[in-house]
Amino acid sequence: MKIKNWDMFIFVVVYHLLLVILLPAFIQVFSWASFWLFLVTYILGGMAITVGYHRLYAHKAYTANPFFEWCVLITSALSFEMSALMWSHDHRIHHTHVDTEKDPYSIDKGFWYAHLLWLFDYKRKFEPNLVQDLLKNPRVVLQDKYYPHFLIGVNLAIFLFGWWLTGSALASFYMGFLARMAMVHHCTWFINSLCHTFGAKTFARELSAVDNALMAVLTFGEGYHNYHHAFAADYRNGVRWYHFDPTKWAIWTASKLGLVSNLRSMNTINVQKSLVQKDKKLILDHLSHEVDELATDFMRKLEEVADTFEKKSSMLVRKARELKQSSEQQSRLLKKEIKELRASLKTTWNEWVVLTRQATELYELGHVH
Ligand SMILES: [Zn+2]
Ligand SMILES: [Zn+2]
Repeated sequence: MKIKNWDMFIFVVVYHLLLVILLPAFIQVFSWASFWLFLVTYILGGMAITVGYHRLYAHKAYTANPFFEWCVLITSALSFEMSALMWSHDHRIHHTHVDTEKDPYSIDKGFWYAHLLWLFDYKRKFEPNLVQDLLKNPRVVLQDKYYPHFLIGVNLAIFLFGWWLTGSALASFYMGFLARMAMVHHCTWFINSLCHTFGAKTFARELSAVDNALMAVLTFGEGYHNYHHAFAADYRNGVRWYHFDPTKWAIWTASKLGLVSNLRSMNTINVQKSLVQKDKKLILDHLSHEVDELATDFMRKLEEVADTFEKKSSMLVRKARELKQSSEQQSRLLKKEIKELRASLKTTWNEWVVLTRQATELYELGHVH
């Protein structure tokens, strides 16, 4: 790979070198205050990216009021990850062209390329129509225009504050700037490298993106990357209540405080419906080469359960719609029907999960659920 962005290359290399060179001197002045400075600025910088750049601007998973947007646009300077406009532009290309030549951080070019080498290689061809919505947002446009001012202003303020807090300019520079920036960078980059390499493909098996719970811890919930690529407009990445996704909790809390609204999410039935369709196709494609009786039987059963799931889920959607326009008397009956349908749909879903597991074991299909 030939380096095209020398300024970026020098910046990344120099700050990593400084981290190593200054370490012995920093150890002499270490204080717990400097550790807290690191932790808080890392969380703020990282969350500005996940809550703001990623889920608000790149994917429009919810809408925010101007105060909330400003909080995001200002704190994002702690992450050193370009303006919201450019970040969203590149990220939308990643989603549309994932695993192809046009993907700026394609995993097909290797782990380290997807992690950081792409930064030195990538020449952005700015396509305004990719971010037309953001170009109409005056706050985003302003942040983009004066991005260097934002960077210098916010980081200088944090440096001075850290100096006051820790009593050491070196401790403030090391923990509140160098270490914090490195941590935010590598955790973001891990999404493009690790989260396209090690983990489970539960929702979109055709893509390289994976769900990795460990990465979710380091990246404020972004580790559920397979789900995210399958349903990118969902404000959640970890859909189960126990999935560690502080970004979704922050967005949900902000919605309760009236700062954000229109949270978009896929309901479980739609997610399952899409999984059934995809799994069915994948398994049938695979089994169509098998000629034995067992495979034929298995395919018939698979079609049967998929059909039943489809019918029951459509019925459930219809009944839920009827419920909205029903009289009080009808509504009691409908609620009872919906409850029964839900239970029966759950049984069919479980049957489906068992079937797909059997397919995995019998025909070596790789990971299914
Ligand atoms: Zn991705
Ligand atoms: Zn995304």
